[in-house]
Amino acid sequence: MSQVIDQTKSLVERKSITPEDAGCQALMIARLEAVGFTVERMRFGEVDNFWARRGDQGPLLCFAGHTDVVPTGPAEAWRSAPFVPTERDGCLWGRGTADMKASLAAMVVAVEEFLTTCPAPAGSIAFLVTSDEEGPAQDGTKAVIEALEARGEKIDWCLVGEPSSRERLGDMLRIGRRGSLSGDLVVSGVQGHVAYPESAVNPLHKLAPVLAELVSLEWDPGNEAFPPTSFQLTNLHSGTGFRNVIPGSAELKFNIRYSTEQTMEGLQARIHELMDRHGLDYRIAWRDAGRPFLTRKCRFLEAVREVVREVAGVDPELSTGGGTSDGRFIAPTGAAVVELGPVNASIHKIDEHVRIADLEPLKDLYLGILRRLL
Ligand SMILES: [Zn+2]
Repeated sequence: MSQVIDQTKSLVERKSITPEDAGCQALMIARLEAVGFTVERMRFGEVDNFWARRGDQGPLLCFAGHTDVVPTGPAEAWRSAPFVPTERDGCLWGRGTADMKASLAAMVVAVEEFLTTCPAPAGSIAFLVTSDEEGPAQDGTKAVIEALEARGEKIDWCLVGEPSSRERLGDMLRIGRRGSLSGDLVVSGVQGHVAYPESAVNPLHKLAPVLAELVSLEWDPGNEAFPPTSFQLTNLHSGTGFRNVIPGSAELKFNIRYSTEQTMEGLQARIHELMDRHGLDYRIAWRDAGRPFLTRKCRFLEAVREVVREVAGVDPELSTGGGTSDGRFIAPTGAAVVELGPVNASIHKIDEHVRIADLEPLKDLYLGILRRLL
């Protein structure tokens, strides 16, 4: 029986829906302590996290991931119970198999194997594991990174086990993510009778030219790693429901997905400038859901690419697409962040699964990276 499969099953049968960890981290911690890691449990709010480190010299290679999973949806729609890991048709089925308990299992087994042949590596190994990646993500990786930063502990290379592969194991690495900035905008006017517009201020009329400009703006053309920055209006509410009342205010929500050509501050300044130029009476509540990052060519990225070519026999595409991940909290510390994990076709869906034949190679990928760098 493969240790990776065994360990994946043990994690999957623990029903760790965000922010519950359901004992997954304890399983990992026991194994890591047994091979010489010093483990700090870091619970923030209702979120379990841990930081485990072995060694005190640099460079520090960190494996990062999450034990939490998204809800199953209707359990009866699954071909086998979502928290009963089941082997069938060459796959292992269950919630969290692909996102990302197989990766966690593969990381732990890879480190154990590595240390049997290399008990004194030329650098340190760490694990940063959270139980809130799929949820609000405020008390998870973000909070652990803040604690590490506060004491000056720096990650050099970070391998995130998110399921990055598209069709076959290793065919895609994520090396960056777009930034995400949301704004809740309230535009104030003066309510009145439609027959007496001179004694009212219609916020919708004030807003119309601003929106026309916002939605046609070209923020940037993108760059070699990112598509162009995109602004999307997501909510627009105004009016009393009456046909003869000019509304007193209008509320909008918008989101911007942005490339490394922009900064959050630059985007905010540009939107404020536009509102001010059109003389709007407004306020905006901003929500920073992650800054953009890009891991450029470096020793870490090259090592990962070489190992993928060797072990998986595929030249990985380097991508910055997809949603956000906890890499957004780790990269701003200066760490080089690469995401490498199994095929993501079934993640968050009914009947999530991984190919059993990918599990040993996934461990061998992580093992190869350890051997090449430490
Ligand atoms: Zn994930």
